[in-house]
Amino acid sequence: MDTPHDCESVEEIKAALQKNNQALAMEKIKEYVDKQNNIPLNIAITGETGSGKSTFINAFRGVKHGDAGYAPTGVRECTKVPTPYTHPNYPNVKLWDLPGVGGKHFPADQYLNDVGFENYDFFIIISDTRFRENDVKLAREIQRMKKKFYFVRSKIDNDIRAQKLCQSEFSEAEIKEQIKEDCIKCLQEQGIQSPQVFLVSSFELHLHDFSLFIETLERELPEHKRNALLFAMPNINQQIINKKKEAFQANIKWYAALSAAVAAVPLPGLSVGVDAALLAHVAKQYAVSFGLDVPSLENLAKSTGVPFKDFMASILSPLAATKITPDLIIKVLTQCASAAALMAAEEGSRFIPFLGIPAAMALSFTTTYRMLNFILNELADDAQRVFEKALGCNTTE
Ligand code: GDP
Repeated sequence: MDTPHDCESVEEIKAALQKNNQALAMEKIKEYVDKQNNIPLNIAITGETGSGKSTFINAFRGVKHGDAGYAPTGVRECTKVPTPYTHPNYPNVKLWDLPGVGGKHFPADQYLNDVGFENYDFFIIISDTRFRENDVKLAREIQRMKKKFYFVRSKIDNDIRAQKLCQSEFSEAEIKEQIKEDCIKCLQEQGIQSPQVFLVSSFELHLHDFSLFIETLERELPEHKRNALLFAMPNINQQIINKKKEAFQANIKWYAALSAAVAAVPLPGLSVGVDAALLAHVAKQYAVSFGLDVPSLENLAKSTGVPFKDFMASILSPLAATKITPDLIIKVLTQCASAAALMAAEEGSRFIPFLGIPAAMALSFTTTYRMLNFILNELADDAQRVFEKALGCNTTE
């Protein structure tokens, strides 16, 4: 559902386009697109010292030891104030390491006011054992403040390893079910009715319940916050890549409208006009979110042990693992113009009357629409190939 503000923006854009006021339309679309790309998402992480908060915060953001913004782990000193950790590619997404609840400094009933609860979209309560009284008190307070909370049972890899060592007939699924049931029962006994508990290993986000956790968040977050979460997510499974693709796809009409509203720059070798700088800007967003920029691929190589050159060999798009410039865009699209021209024209033209784009600008709209679809498809396919390559060498499932 669009927020009232979104509807307002769309109406303003339509009106400007219909009146042929290109400058105003451009300004409004830019404002709208920027706003969509900068929706803040603030995630609060709380739990006892040593429960795995910092490790989770790093894993969630794909930040490794030695990278800028790494949350120090294994530190015994308690966090005394909420500490923000910004996503390296999405400054609008922040994970907050909150002080542990309880004790004389942070009694549960004052805790949420002390940490400024209204600043957070939802709370993650982490524990590496059963959830304790303080966790439950906090959950109740969060509920009272009409905010969402989720329980993450961390370090599940440790439990599985330990059980494997001491049981002759070992079933990982059964062990996990037992731990989850145990956590849920313990929370219910303390008065939380339907606790949502997710078993996570921050060293193996693609395993266990992390995907389920993300699906749950996506379902329960307000719609306008969903893309902020989705784009910032590591590519832990193929569904995430597909969802990212769908979300990017849904935004293409706005970029196409933007290119219709600006004086389009003619592309050498193409018979139509398109704004190469705009395409380069959007293509960069796709590449980063799909983890196809060089730093992300290097990180993936480090964490999976798959050689960087193997990822490079599985990549087909000339826009992946490189610096995307308007010149490169022109080169790629000139080579692929006929393929791009076949794609998505029909879908794109549906938006022309919807947005009230005048006929003179429609060509630019359709061209940008096709081009972006082409670029998006190519990069999403590469993301799938890279994911498969990474998975082939790094999973027990
Ligand atoms: P914090 O004090 O809550 O921020 O906890 P840390 O993130 O510093 O983690 C405490 C210790 O637990 C560190 O030695 C981490 O390496 C370890 N740890 C955290 N998460 C996991 C996990 O998912 N699996 C395993 N095996 N160890 C973890």
